Formats: sequence, structure tokens, C-alpha cells
Amino acid sequence: MLMCRDLAGIASDYIDGELTGRQNVSVKMHLMMCKDCRTFIGNLRASTNLMKAHSSGKPDEELMRRIDERVTEALQAWKKNNGDN
Ligand SMILES: [Zn+2]
Repeated sequence: MLMCRDLAGIASDYIDGELTGRQNVSVKMHLMMCKDCRTFIGNLRASTNLMKAHSSGKPDEELMRRIDERVTEALQAWKKNNGDN
């Protein structure tokens, strides 16, 4: 069974659709049961979409910094709820 800490390591691959079928199913099953990870993935996905929307143009440093802050915040909130050890 996939644990919260396992999910953090593969979350971005999940969003990018780069997981194997089996990993993908594990993540989906975990997300069904775990509200914290749903929130985490939701934040990460929103940030990833923002980055992709801007990837065609010149990198916007201010935007990149905001996205980075948001991901960091989401990760910290997630760690607080799940423990980080
Ligand atoms: Zn979880």
C-alpha cells in the first residue's frame, strides 16, 4: 500500500502522467482515502498547469517565485499533517 511519504516523491510524475499503470492505480487509491494528499496533489497540479501555460513564453521570474512558494507551502502543510521522518 502506498504511503503519504511515498506519494510526495512521485506526485509530479503522477501529474505529468509518467507513472506506470500500477503506480498510477496505487496513487489513485491512496487519493481516494487520503484528503491531505488530495489537497497536496490539487495544489501541485494547479501550480504545474500555471507553469505549463507560461512555458511557451519567456520565463517569468515573479511567477516562478510565486509558484515555488505555493508548492513549498503545500508541501509544508502536507508534512505537518503527515509527519516528516
Ligand atoms: Zn496521504
